[in-house]
Amino acid sequence: MRGQRRKGGIVEGYQLKVAPELCTGCLRCELACSETYEGVFSPSKARIRVLVGSSTWEIRFEEDCTGCGACADNCLYGAISRSP
Ligand code: SF4
Ligand code: SF4
Repeated sequence: MRGQRRKGGIVEGYQLKVAPELCTGCLRCELACSETYEGVFSPSKARIRVLVGSSTWEIRFEEDCTGCGACADNCLYGAISRSP
């Protein structure tokens, strides 16, 4: 997933990296996304889905994900991060 952020008026590109093995299932990413775009803390309105996988959590970005990185900024465990 590619995204952009503004830093001092300069738009920088970055890659959103996912490490599902580090995910705890806390859903902070979903809450951050829904709050950013819908103004509510509601995982069902997020543009990212954290699902129970066979041995780890599975992290999926929905089609309407903008790549803004708010989910990564709110993941405390390094399961989603920005990579320059
Ligand atoms: S990706 Fe990060 S914020 Fe989202 S559920 Fe996993 S640990 Fe929590
Ligand atoms: S990058 Fe932005 S739009 Fe995409 S899932 Fe994360 S918070 Fe939501």
